Amino acid sequence: MTNEVELVTIGDELLLGFTVDTNSAFLSQRLAEQGIGVARRTTVGDSRDAIADAVREALHRTGAVITTGGLGPTSDDLTMESVALAFGVALELDRAHLDWMRDRWKQRFERDLPESNRRQAMLPRGARKLMNHHGSAPGAYIADDRERWAVVLPGVPREMRGMTHDALLPLLREKGWGAGECITSLTLRTTGTPESLLQDQLSGVVLSAGSSPLARLSLAYLPGVDGVDLRLTVRGHDSSAAAAALDHAAAAIRAAIAGCIYAEGDDDLARVLLAACRARDWRIAVAESCTGGLLGARLTAIPGSSDVFVGGVIAYDDAVKVRELDVAEAMLREHGAVSEPVVRQMALGARRRFRADAALAITGVAGPGGGTPAKPVGTVWICVAAGERVEARQIHSWGDRQEVRYRAAQAAMDTARRLLA
Ligand code: AMP
Ligand code: MG
Repeated sequence: MTNEVELVTIGDELLLGFTVDTNSAFLSQRLAEQGIGVARRTTVGDSRDAIADAVREALHRTGAVITTGGLGPTSDDLTMESVALAFGVALELDRAHLDWMRDRWKQRFERDLPESNRRQAMLPRGARKLMNHHGSAPGAYIADDRERWAVVLPGVPREMRGMTHDALLPLLREKGWGAGECITSLTLRTTGTPESLLQDQLSGVVLSAGSSPLARLSLAYLPGVDGVDLRLTVRGHDSSAAAAALDHAAAAIRAAIAGCIYAEGDDDLARVLLAACRARDWRIAVAESCTGGLLGARLTAIPGSSDVFVGGVIAYDDAVKVRELDVAEAMLREHGAVSEPVVRQMALGARRRFRADAALAITGVAGPGGGTPAKPVGTVWICVAAGERVEARQIHSWGDRQEVRYRAAQAAMDTARRLLA
C-alpha cells in the first residue's frame, strides 16, 4: 500500500522561474484527497541525467514517483527516455499510438503527422500506456520487480489535470493505494486581523479532534493579500471520523473569532457581501478614489451581481468628488482628500446619487509617491453608509501600490459585511 509519493516536475522554464509550478500544487491537493501524502517535490531542468537521477533517487527513497513535463515532440522533451533509463529498460515504439496520432492529425489539422511527433509514441518497455484524451502525448505507468513505480504525466497543465482524473486517480484506486488514510482540510477565511492577533485570540482554544482520538489535527495560518486563511487539516483512518473532527475543531475556532471569519474554502468576500445585501433586498453603490474601480470590478466579477450592484463613481480627481458626489470644496481644502470627513461625504453622496440602500467609499494614498508624515503611503479611509449607520475607519495598509489598493477594497467590503451581519 502506497501512502506517500514524490513529485518530480520537469522543465527549464520552471527552474528559470518563467513558469510557476502549478502542477505540483494541483497534484498534491488531489493526492491528499485520496489519502496519499507527498513526501518530497523536486524540480529539474530538461536534462536526461538530471531527470533520471531525480527519478532514481525518488524511487530509492519513497518507491513511488509522479513526473510532469517533458513529453512534447521536440528535442528538449526527454522524460520518457530518462524514466526508461532510471528503470534500466529501453524505449519501444507503440505502433497503435502512432496510428492513433496519425488519424488525430488527419482529422484535426488535415495534414500528415510531423516526423518529430513520432517520439511521443515511444514508451519504456513493459510500461502501461496512460491514454491522454487532452493532447497527443500519452502518459505511462512503469513498475519494477520490487513494486517501485513511476507515473509519467504531461506538463501542459490542462492535459495534466485531465489525465489526473482519467488515468492517475483510477490507477491509484485500482492498485488500492492510499485507501488506508484520508487527509481532509477545511479553510476558514478571515480578513482585517493580523495572524499574530488571531493566534492570540485562539490561544485558549484547545483544538482537539473531538470524540475521535484516532484523527490527527493541524492548524495552519496562511496570510495573503485577502487576509489570513486558517486551514485545518485532519488525517485519520476513518473518513467520517475525520469529517466530524474537522467540524468539531472548526466550531471551536468559530466560537472564538466568529466576527473575523467571512467565508469557508476559497469563497470570495465580494460574493459574501453581495449575498448579505441580497438577503435584505438591498442595492449598493461605490465611490472610489485610490482603488480606481477595483471595488466595482471585484463586485461585478461575481455572477449575478446585477441585482445588488447599482454602479459607482471613480472619483480620482477632487473635482469629480465635488461634481459627482457633492463633497464640499471646503472639506477638501481643510482636511485633504484622504480624510474622514471627505470619505463620509463620498459614501453619502454615492448612496444618494445612485438611490442605493448602501454605499462603500474609499480614498487613500496608494503610493509609491504622495505620502506625507501625517498621511504616509498606505493611509486609507473607507466609509460604509448602510441604512441608518455610517461607519468610517482608517486603515494603515502595507505592501506595494497593487497590494494597498487590493487591501483597501477588501477592507471596505469587510466593513460592509460586518455592518450588515
Ligand atoms: P512540457 O510538457 O514540459 O513541454 O510542458 C509544456 C508546457 O506546460 C510548458 O511550456 C509550461 O508552460 C507548462 N508546464 C510544464 N510543467 C509545468 C508545471 N509543473 N507547472 C505549470 N506549468 C507547467
Ligand atoms: Mg518542457
